[in-house]
Amino acid sequence: MARKTIFAVSTPPGMGGIAVIRLSGPLADDTLAAMTDKPLPEPRKAVLRRLFNPHTEENLDHPLVLRFLEGHSFTGEPVVELHLHGGRAVVASVMEALGQRDGLRLAQPGEFTRRAFDHGRLDLSQVEGLADLISAETSSQQRAALHQYSGVIGARCRAWSARLTRGLALLEATIDFADEEIPAETWQVATDEIVGVRDAIRADLGAAHPSERMRDGWRIAILGAPNAGKSTLLNALAQRDAAIVSDIPGTTRDSIEVHLDLGGYPVTLIDTAGIRDADDAIERIGVERANRVAREADLRIAVAAPDARLTEDVTVLLQKNDLLLWNKMDRAASPEPHYIALSARSGEGLDTVIERLRAMADIADPPADALLLHQRHREAMAQALRSLDDYADLASTDPDRIQAAPELAAQLVREAWESLGRITGERGIDRLLDVIFSEFCLGK
Ligand code: GDP
Repeated sequence: MARKTIFAVSTPPGMGGIAVIRLSGPLADDTLAAMTDKPLPEPRKAVLRRLFNPHTEENLDHPLVLRFLEGHSFTGEPVVELHLHGGRAVVASVMEALGQRDGLRLAQPGEFTRRAFDHGRLDLSQVEGLADLISAETSSQQRAALHQYSGVIGARCRAWSARLTRGLALLEATIDFADEEIPAETWQVATDEIVGVRDAIRADLGAAHPSERMRDGWRIAILGAPNAGKSTLLNALAQRDAAIVSDIPGTTRDSIEVHLDLGGYPVTLIDTAGIRDADDAIERIGVERANRVAREADLRIAVAAPDARLTEDVTVLLQKNDLLLWNKMDRAASPEPHYIALSARSGEGLDTVIERLRAMADIADPPADALLLHQRHREAMAQALRSLDDYADLASTDPDRIQAAPELAAQLVREAWESLGRITGERGIDRLLDVIFSEFCLGK
């Protein structure tokens, strides 16, 4: 049965210079023909047309219209775009006229993208890249999303899958034709291919880590004794940087998280003080929780002051490259050179701190060819890696073992193949699809 033609407003709701309504499906062209009084324009050529309601003949707007042919559109289906004047009444009247036509219905959230996926215009990793691109708030997130949308991850996974398929075919051949003459090196050729894929996945997983941070943002924990000036510093950083993205309460009622756009890099500052100062009864839990936040952060800023030196419980949490700040420099000079001196209250020295953070974020910025991974992709790749590691163990411990257990060897390769397929959306993905597509909003 032919699919229904779907339509939706693809621009944000409300008034605007223009509003775009997109139609996708077999009746897109017929609908455009019925609502305009001139022949259909050439594909991909924007033309002005009078648009009217075919039932009432009422004039609706004078929009720019565009059409895309099947196989040459975002969804892969015939697509029509109506670039209307962005008034509420205009949009509402066109939506109503479309709703009155047989074979048309309003698109569900994410349905255009879903159709693009179903028609092979995008793989699943690109769908996620597109969702990231639409929600990107900083330029580094934008870069990461574009990278993913470009399809590099899918292409790499497909290349690996192809090599695994070849390896698997060789393995299966030795199973199926066990009684026949099979060249002795077949096992070795298969194993070389399969272990080669294992090595490539391992290398990419290892290299991907810093870039992942860029997508979700760096998490920076602010540590120090009470009264060192942590809250003052947090406020000063938040105010100094004009581009505060949002300010949401932390995961616990006591911790403060501030989201900043630090020269294009998303950063979350977490003040653990509130957790630490919890009620006596739960003090220990509070301290443990604060320590965990500090350990799991990507960077720690330890704040000391003349009246609040760093104590052992803070210094044990510090790692290489963490920042040491000497606050209240207006009161006393820093006792040691590796502290960055500042006054959170007056703002003196704050620029140096911001510069340092920005420089560190720059280092973490991924090279152009780095693989940028979603958590979901990382997990799927890690799973594929585990299966292939098992295969490599089987193959290396004793060459005879793999020949004694060819079904197990083949099963491991198949598992790895299916794990990679989850990244591009080729296997066992129905439930996953619903989750991913439901994150899209209407008209995308
Ligand atoms: P926290 O407990 O670490 O969050 O510390 P606060 O930010 O609440 O600051 C503790 C006290 O130190 C407050 O009275 C601040 O006004 C003061 N303070 C913070 N920064 C400075 C500074 O740079 N110079 C001076 N003289 N006092 C500061």
